[in-house]
Amino acid sequence: MPALRTRANRRTGTAVSIWDTRHPDNWLDPEGGRWAVVCETHGNVSNHERREDARYFASHPDEWCEACMDVRGVQKSDYMEETNG
Ligand SMILES: [Zn+2]
Repeated sequence: MPALRTRANRRTGTAVSIWDTRHPDNWLDPEGGRWAVVCETHGNVSNHERREDARYFASHPDEWCEACMDVRGVQKSDYMEETNG
């Protein structure tokens, strides 16, 4: 099935898609909500009952995808040069 929307996220640089789990060809787990937001880069999924919520979280993968959180964390620190010992 085609993704309803796939966009490269500006903040994290990752590709995030919105999927409709009611689609006949769906293979994603609908538990937790009809709309599945998938971080294509890291393979993490976040389900939402409302499509508006799915759209919001598709634009903010760094709020639910742990790997994207790490990416943002790195960007926030601006790649500061830290030495470990
Ligand atoms: Zn991610």
